[in-house]
Amino acid sequence: MRIGVLALQGAFREHLETLDAIGVEGARVREPADLEGASGLILPGGESTTMRQLIDRWGLHEPIVRLAESGAPILGTCAGMIVLAREIAGDERPILPLLDVAVARNAFGRQLESFEVELAVPVLGDRPVHAVFIRAPVVERIGPGVDVLARLDDGRIVAVRERNIIATSFHPELAGEARFHRLLATMASEFDDPGEGSGRRPHPTRRARAR
Ligand code: GLN
Repeated sequence: MRIGVLALQGAFREHLETLDAIGVEGARVREPADLEGASGLILPGGESTTMRQLIDRWGLHEPIVRLAESGAPILGTCAGMIVLAREIAGDERPILPLLDVAVARNAFGRQLESFEVELAVPVLGDRPVHAVFIRAPVVERIGPGVDVLARLDDGRIVAVRERNIIATSFHPELAGEARFHRLLATMASEFDDPGEGSGRRPHPTRRARAR
């Protein structure tokens, strides 16, 4: 199983290192061919405006949407969350609208450009996540199919999941936190091998590849 990490810009190395630390093969994704055979994808933090341009320039828009629509798990962190959001406050065009949320960029303003908190993320177990926020977005609206995975103490939503798409406002990979990556890897192996009785049939191209 191989998980792609979009490596156009931003904090992709830390994601590759986190995958490595849990024994999962990661692969840099810079062009569509790099997505072939990927069982999942990570969209890292960085600058979403730059990522928008580079995703277009390298023709990655369609292949990423196709991968997501085939059911492969996708994890977006910080700028990666903005890349996935269906709506970006301030009327910006969405980038890869795969996640039914509205986000506000740089939501914590200048006074609080970056901060770290211990965050409860019940799907990952009892131990809190050490969450690093850097010029982070927040989720301002969620669609009916979206689950909230974490909120700040003031109630603001900072981690969500909609089916195979997970997004966090913060950077788990900068704090040695590997549980989101483990969850992604578990979802990726279920995607590769849905198993008996799961009620899900693999996408035809996946089935061909699995042989
Ligand atoms: N502020 C950045 C943006 O709007 C995101 C910051 C980050 O990924 N650390 O894209």
